Amino acid sequence: TSFDDADLPPALAANTVRCNYTKPTPVQKYSIPIGLAHRDLMACAQTGSGKTAAFCFPIIANILKSNVQPLGRSRKAHPMALVLSPTRELSSQIYDEARKFTYQTGIRPVVVYGGAPVMNQLREMERGCDILVATPGRLSDLIERARVSLSRVTYLALDEADRMLDMGFEPQIRRIVEQEDMPRTGQRQTLLFSATFPKEIQRLAADFLHNYIFLAV
Ligand code: AMP
Repeated sequence: TSFDDADLPPALAANTVRCNYTKPTPVQKYSIPIGLAHRDLMACAQTGSGKTAAFCFPIIANILKSNVQPLGRSRKAHPMALVLSPTRELSSQIYDEARKFTYQTGIRPVVVYGGAPVMNQLREMERGCDILVATPGRLSDLIERARVSLSRVTYLALDEADRMLDMGFEPQIRRIVEQEDMPRTGQRQTLLFSATFPKEIQRLAADFLHNYIFLAV
């Protein structure tokens, strides 16, 4: 198997080659077709399994196939995709990968996290923000300041959900996902990634996912 079988849009397929991704990892092999079929997904996947591409490829492919045009410059960001992740380090890593995957696609990823000045992050968001990678605390702050609207979020990914709950982010995550302007469960595609699947994650999956596929690799 190679990414040729994955039916990715040409620009994204070209970027897999540029990244030297020749063969999908197991989690990619199963989650990419599920994601391309617009299904919700709960995936148990460890760090290093290639999970970043497992949720980024379907999001980028679905955006490209939908022909929804990036909004461009705007004081208030209206991302089409939101990726929540627990830490600054992980968010930065996801952002770095997302930049490579979106090269020459017209899709602009931005990352925001706490513990860093908000000014630069706001400036980056204003330049256009199609995929927003965020930690829950900083995103809550930006929503409160009315600098982010979730009304266009068609794709929602939660990475390392178990770690986010361990860090006490559940109230913020619930407030974000239950924002008034956020498309409801079933109107958006939601991809939930977690290394473990305890009760709390099962509850989150039941609340955030619609008719989802459970993947353990
Ligand atoms: P992740 O689990 O997403 O953090 O990925 C772990 C590492 O594997 C990262 O450095 C990725 O760039 C790399 N990687 C992910 N998928 C592939 C692939 N299909 N082929 C080669 N390298 C990959």
